[in-house]
Amino acid sequence: MITDKPVCVTGASGFIAAHIVRQLLEQGYSVRGTVRKSPKNYPFLLGLPGASERLELVEADLLSNGAYDRAVDGCEYVMHTASPYQINVKNPQTDLVDPAVNGTETVLESCLKSHSIKRVIFTSSIAAITDEPDSTKVFNEKDWNTMSSLERNPYHYSKTLAERDAWDFIMRKRPTFDLVAINPFMVVGPSLGPSLNTSNQILRDILIGVYPCIMDINWGFVAVQDAAQSHILAMETETASGRYLCSGEAMDMKTLVALLSSSGFDAYSLPKLDLSGKIGSLLMKVLSFTQPRNTGVYIRTNIGRTMRYDNAKIKRELGISFKPVKESIIDAVKDMVQWGHLPPQKNNK
Ligand code: NDP
Repeated sequence: MITDKPVCVTGASGFIAAHIVRQLLEQGYSVRGTVRKSPKNYPFLLGLPGASERLELVEADLLSNGAYDRAVDGCEYVMHTASPYQINVKNPQTDLVDPAVNGTETVLESCLKSHSIKRVIFTSSIAAITDEPDSTKVFNEKDWNTMSSLERNPYHYSKTLAERDAWDFIMRKRPTFDLVAINPFMVVGPSLGPSLNTSNQILRDILIGVYPCIMDINWGFVAVQDAAQSHILAMETETASGRYLCSGEAMDMKTLVALLSSSGFDAYSLPKLDLSGKIGSLLMKVLSFTQPRNTGVYIRTNIGRTMRYDNAKIKRELGISFKPVKESIIDAVKDMVQWGHLPPQKNNK
């Protein structure tokens, strides 16, 4: 343990953050988590082992100035995870960009005021690295997403602006604390709380037939436990610095569907029609215009492109070793059935 002061985790109710809280408590840390509603609404956090002695929940909203002053007061480490994670929103500016960017500024301002903070660990995303895979390139921490906008992949835009703003804050204000960013790819695995996370939802959607066919699209996956542990290692590793691309192996949709099918989930409505060839990709680009606006843009900027990335820095500097992706995907599916996000299969397999 590197601090006996509470570790502040913003957005503690979130999918990744709840695992951070659990692991911090398991390791003996005290935690101050921020939530948007009254603490009694989060029994899954209050019931974690160690929570009754060492977890405090305080209310804070990213859109309210000074909201995090009390939350970070007296802490040495802050993990800023809170940010809206949704693909289709009505108003990208107010629903995504404002809370992500202004919220980051608000949290960092509170850290500046507190004088006790040593490091802020900022949950960024692969979205701040790119929104468009390039089959000829291997992405790493030096890459920045320069293509997203309010019209094009606005979630990616919100994450890019928020991370840029955080680094800019450090340059402008020269605080006594430093900043480390964790940039996870698609985080999957069991959820500690009842909400269905957007990344697990993609797996659910593939299983329940939302995707009518197999597309030439691929993702990097990281187990939620590993994403959480990366935040803690970034806090504990004194020499940690800069950004950390956080992802295990990549998997394309065809392999993912085959994995789900061979893992006993074939009674769901997995897509059978294979449109992962060149002609299929062209067809999918046309069909993407029938999807909700931002899903359509996402398909058009990702289809037919192989995403490759280098995760050597996080393994080397933070010492993380990633869980096998297949295991995390299967864990996620079983967990969604348990929470009722997925119906049990008809043949009860
Ligand atoms: P969740 O949606 O589960 O968590 C988001 C958290 O942010 C929730 O606690 C939510 O609170 C909080 N939040 C949203 N808006 C506000 C607001 N206006 N004020 C205060 N809190 C707010 O998503 P994840 O756990 O997946 O995401 C956590 C972080 O990780 C985000 O920054 C996301 O961009 C990033 N990330 C996620 C990836 C993934 O695959 N899941 C991949 C890469 C990065 P509430 O519960 O009240 O809604």
